[in-house]
Amino acid sequence: MTDNRIELPRPETITAAYGVAADPAFGAVAPPLYLSSTYEFAGFDEPRVYDYGRAGNPTRNLLADALAKLEGGAGAIITSSGMSALDLLVSRQRPDDLILAPHDCYGGTMRLLKARADRGHCSVRFVDQSDIAAYAAALEEFPALVLIETPSNPLMRVVDIAALATKARTVGAKIAVDNTFLSPAIQRPIALGADYVVHSTTKYLNGHSDVIGGAVVAADPAEVGELRQWANVVGSAGAPFDSWLTLRGMRTLFARMERQQINAMAIAHYLERHPVVAKVHYPGLSSHPGHAIASRQQRGFGAMLSFELAGGVSAVRQFIASVRFFTLAESLGGVESLVAHPATMTHADMGVEARAAAGISDSLLRLSVGLEAEQDLLAGLAEGLAACRD
Ligand code: PLP
Repeated sequence: MTDNRIELPRPETITAAYGVAADPAFGAVAPPLYLSSTYEFAGFDEPRVYDYGRAGNPTRNLLADALAKLEGGAGAIITSSGMSALDLLVSRQRPDDLILAPHDCYGGTMRLLKARADRGHCSVRFVDQSDIAAYAAALEEFPALVLIETPSNPLMRVVDIAALATKARTVGAKIAVDNTFLSPAIQRPIALGADYVVHSTTKYLNGHSDVIGGAVVAADPAEVGELRQWANVVGSAGAPFDSWLTLRGMRTLFARMERQQINAMAIAHYLERHPVVAKVHYPGLSSHPGHAIASRQQRGFGAMLSFELAGGVSAVRQFIASVRFFTLAESLGGVESLVAHPATMTHADMGVEARAAAGISDSLLRLSVGLEAEQDLLAGLAEGLAACRD
């Protein structure tokens, strides 16, 4: 039997081959899917490797191991959504623990943190983490956990993970990085000093818009054990079938990311030159304020970007009515291109004030660039933008 579970040297090989041809029963090349919720004990007081599906599942564990290796962590916990992955870290905090989060984080993350803080489960402070002085001042409050999201959703702001982690460590804070927007194919936060990496596996890791899932990867083996135990306590485990689909999607992660970011770069250049576009947010553009940091800490610039239309909300309406090949939908990271209007969709619950503070205007549109032909995507955008001139 080929053992593809041994240390595999390169991340591309892990995504393609981890767990392949490792089935002891029939030599199945594709890893089997174990749906059973419970497992027979070998005898009285003799559990086997698995006893109950909330605590552990072979298919879920295979995905966890593959992802942990990709991120360079000691282990991973696969959860039912990106939100439950974040909450695995948040719900472990105690009432006097402070979480420091970005002021422009994903709207659902802000909603979760505020909800936990409102109920007295922890306290939370939102700060512009690209403002060094504001970040340093916030660290003086001795946060237990610093949450970083880079590039941020939806403005694609980039922060220096290694620099923020070094500073956070001086006050004893743990560092978690939401790596959803780039995936480990492009950014590996643990190598930059993070204690945890959080994912909405719903996005690039699965890549096919047919699973809601999440993961927390921890750098420290002791933390992996504690988080695994906590996931069992709160019951946040991901479903086996979702894990199996996510592992299958992850097989092509590198190939997808490579192609999707080429498309994104072409679109960013196109939008930057278009007269009805006021501003483009894409770290791959040399005009982007985070370009230098992104070039250093990322292996590419990803396939997410956002842009502002000069004509405000009426232009947004016209664009959405006429654009082709970009489906108006929440989410991101799939093989198909999507367009979202953060103010009325992904970031609606943030409220007007928090959106204004984060710089998320009503004329901002976010694109998740897929695998379609570059020429079709550019032609589809051209139709939407032409409508904005009317
Ligand atoms: N983190 C980021 C950066 C996201 O964009 C999202 C969802 O869009 C989440 C977390 C939450 O993930 P899920 O929708 O899988 O719960």
